[in-house]
Amino acid sequence: MTYNIALIPGDGIGKEVVPEAVKIIAALSDRYDFDINYTDFPYSCEYYLKTGHMMPADGIEKLCASDAIFLGAVGDFQVPDHVSLWGLLIPIRRQMQQYVNLRPVRLLPGIRSPLADRKSEDIDFVVVRENNEGEYSQIGGRVYEGTDLEMVVQETVFTRMGVDRIMRYAFELAQKRSRKHLTSATKSNGIIHTMPFWDERFKAVSQHYPDVKTAQFHIDILTAHFVQHPDWFDVVVGSNLFGDILSDLGPAIAGSIGIAASANINPEKEFPSMFEPVHGSAPDIAGKGIANPIGTFWSAQMMLEFLGEIKAAEALMRAIEAVTAEHIFTPDLGGNATTEEFTEAVLSKLKGIR
Ligand code: ATP
Repeated sequence: MTYNIALIPGDGIGKEVVPEAVKIIAALSDRYDFDINYTDFPYSCEYYLKTGHMMPADGIEKLCASDAIFLGAVGDFQVPDHVSLWGLLIPIRRQMQQYVNLRPVRLLPGIRSPLADRKSEDIDFVVVRENNEGEYSQIGGRVYEGTDLEMVVQETVFTRMGVDRIMRYAFELAQKRSRKHLTSATKSNGIIHTMPFWDERFKAVSQHYPDVKTAQFHIDILTAHFVQHPDWFDVVVGSNLFGDILSDLGPAIAGSIGIAASANINPEKEFPSMFEPVHGSAPDIAGKGIANPIGTFWSAQMMLEFLGEIKAAEALMRAIEAVTAEHIFTPDLGGNATTEEFTEAVLSKLKGIR
């Protein structure tokens, strides 16, 4: 089988971790008998600074020719975050109907959680974030700018189709996991239109999945529970904003933002899905060769699984875990391995996996 992968290394450490993942995927493709054709795309803040656009007008069309998109990180202090986000990631996620943002949170062997006495079995859940609508909308505006009467309005958009499809995805994911438990993140006490609607749809959709146990919490207390009782959670579904917040908090309790992986999925496979680490361009460590590549490797693992290369995906996860279990870490996790040394360690473990 041959897969066409669009590669967008992006900016900062994205350009350091993506080539390492390519090395790992090459080793897996030799071993598990599949081929990858990469097409490189320079879309990034660097590209914006040269051209005035994050990607060309036909950028989405070109990316659509691939089976999946693999992205590093996008960001630069010279480009406002909303420009880079709305110029590249959000158009890809929306126009390609990647309405599921999947972010696994797991305490890998050997990594110490900042939460006292937590072991691997205590932190193992998946955040399912709605990725196409919700709080991240373009509807709104500003009037009387710069005066005492200045007023800003930002609308939130929830559609029944959008809410139901993310909930169905979350219930189906929970059904496949051993605990079969789904938690909904809400705020229906303070946000009186959209969030009661979210709760209503959660209840309605839950009727179709009687084997899945459910819980729901307001987002404020839910963040506290993530810290105090991470073992309560299995699958957690949230709106675009709530899911975003929870999926940064999740990796923080699992050790480092550098290990966090994500997948932007179009479940119907009408468009390519996109796989990317959760972290940003990390300008403070870019160029030093010490970025943690685990988030990128784990994203590659999710991509291989999504493409159907299940054995290769499983082998990669086992190899990452075997390396962390030996306490080989980059500096963000308290070690002294470089990005390349970490990759070498994973490649060497892969050789020993049957
Ligand atoms: P951007 O503006 O592109 O979102 P950022 O670096 O401000 O990037 P984060 O990715 O959230 O945002 O990173 C915050 C900090 O966490 C970084 O400055 C860096 O110190 C650390 N960090 C992030 N990713 C990694 C990584 N892969 N390895 C090591 N440290 C990391």
